[in-house]
Amino acid sequence: MTEQQPWQWDEPTWRGHVERVRAGRSLRPSSWPGGARVAVALSFDSDHETLPLRDGETRPGRLSQGEYGSRAAAPRILRLLEQHRIPASFFVPAVSALLHPGEVRDYAAAGHEVALHGWIHERNLLLDPATERELAFRAADTLERLSGTRPVGLRTPSWDFSDHTLAITRELGLRYDSSLMADDEPYELLADGEPTGVVEIPVEWIRDDAPYLRMDPQTGSRPYTPPRQVAGIWRDEFDAALAEGGLFQLTMHPHVIGHRSRMIALSGLVEHIGAHDGVWYATHAEVAAYVWEHA
Ligand SMILES: [Zn+2]
Repeated sequence: MTEQQPWQWDEPTWRGHVERVRAGRSLRPSSWPGGARVAVALSFDSDHETLPLRDGETRPGRLSQGEYGSRAAAPRILRLLEQHRIPASFFVPAVSALLHPGEVRDYAAAGHEVALHGWIHERNLLLDPATERELAFRAADTLERLSGTRPVGLRTPSWDFSDHTLAITRELGLRYDSSLMADDEPYELLADGEPTGVVEIPVEWIRDDAPYLRMDPQTGSRPYTPPRQVAGIWRDEFDAALAEGGLFQLTMHPHVIGHRSRMIALSGLVEHIGAHDGVWYATHAEVAAYVWEHA
């Protein structure tokens, strides 16, 4: 049988693709803890060396860029968070955690969340379901051992959410996923139209440092937006979330945001947020637990 082209699909086929994983009821609460007017959930994907490694890129040059993320950037980020007493979520590929166990302990000791981000930042869309599942379980066991806590949330590497990711997420008993983009506010994931009990804390490339700031000499991808302009976009996102009484979620990467000039921009954003009353800083796990109880 030849594969049908999309314009040849009948309605059940295209509808089935869309409904496999879909946004269900909104989990936006009517108020945030302590009467806060906005929830702020900062996250850092501590990919470090796994970005080159997952593509089989093993040369010291690329790996050193990842090493910077752990060696220079992560301590700088932890200092900023401590200074402003902000809890954050760190999504850590298991191989990155094994390379930098002290860093994972530092995250946990400072009260931050350590959550799943694949085994070696694998591309889920290239994997068969059994391999994706095995790597996810191995990663959960590894993070539990290194951080002292069983992870309750997942961010798929590169937000590469496959046809099998939701089933694996449920089998792992995770509270939330943070890889999809159907809303600004948290929602419950549906699988083939059925509620799953899994909370989605949605992400967006707009609220991610990598698209603005990464440089790849091979592909010609270049940063065109200066760091303070990037922080300005995020400031507008925060201001609008505050006005709507919603969630401001941000995804960053130590090896991207943790450079000196960029940390100045991030500090400016944190100070802008801190100048407002009614801000609830929370980890993604805390947001997921709260919205599930209060929506
Ligand atoms: Zn990542």
